[in-house]
Amino acid sequence: MTMKITFEKKVLSKNDRIAAEVRRHLTTRGIVAVNLIGSPGSGKTSLVERTAAWCHGRFATAALTGDQATRHDADRIERAGIPAIQITTGNECHLNAQRILDCVSRDELWDIELLLIENVGNLICPAAYDLGEAAKVALLSVPEGDDKPLKYPGLFQRADLMVISKIDLLGSSDFDADRAERNAREIAPHIEVVRLSCRTGEGLGRWTGWLTTRLAQTAPLTARRD
Ligand code: MG
Ligand code: ZN
Repeated sequence: MTMKITFEKKVLSKNDRIAAEVRRHLTTRGIVAVNLIGSPGSGKTSLVERTAAWCHGRFATAALTGDQATRHDADRIERAGIPAIQITTGNECHLNAQRILDCVSRDELWDIELLLIENVGNLICPAAYDLGEAAKVALLSVPEGDDKPLKYPGLFQRADLMVISKIDLLGSSDFDADRAERNAREIAPHIEVVRLSCRTGEGLGRWTGWLTTRLAQTAPLTARRD
């Protein structure tokens, strides 16, 4: 047990050093990176697609999307109008900072202002790996149940924002959005919450408003290539 903890600590401190390097890259280039974390099927890719459409003509945006296999999500996101790099993680169930560092100098990511990182679908270990992002967003979809913040506190404690997704499905189960918010604030009093549906578009304005605020807080560009 002790050996295992020591090993995990080592891995995470190495990750933190690489994450700091990623953060330096991104901040000197004026890029806001958002790390989207949620279960498989919580609507991460749909949110990236909706955001891609909204960004058109507003903010230069690209996406990194992590999955164990396939480039289905990158294809979906590119059809929504922004460049997307698929990261296939094989046996790993999370993204780590090295995966992001390997991508930050690619052409697709050069002159962007917003980088959407869709993590591997999983509520546990993605939360522990700093990717050098400006903010972590935890997605909780209505079908998953409103008790998830209490069951997986690590993610919600580290997240800046909780997105309650698929609110068009409210009423189809016992999910209570107010209770979900209370549960999240019980373990993460700082957390902001946005409720939305990518299917109907309800609440998307609050999400894009949150993004706009994050983008406005970013320092002017200092290191554009060309
Ligand atoms: Mg996805
Ligand atoms: Zn993992």
